[in-house]
Amino acid sequence: MSERERREERILATIACHSAVKLGDKLSYEEMEALIKDWLTSRYPATCPHGRSICYRLEHKDIARKLDRH
Ligand SMILES: [Zn+2]
Repeated sequence: MSERERREERILATIACHSAVKLGDKLSYEEMEALIKDWLTSRYPATCPHGRSICYRLEHKDIARKLDRH
């Protein structure tokens, strides 16, 4: 990838992250469904375009422990 392409990638990643849905944003049910579908069919669903983690797996036992249901 050329320096120009890398610079374009960084700019596009920043635009994508800054225009992303944020905590507290109100979405319709249809918007939520579309967001999840788009996310799960994206090329790299575990990270934002900058490579930062955006999800993690919760084990059932960990949820039960958090809710005090061992
Ligand atoms: Zn990012």
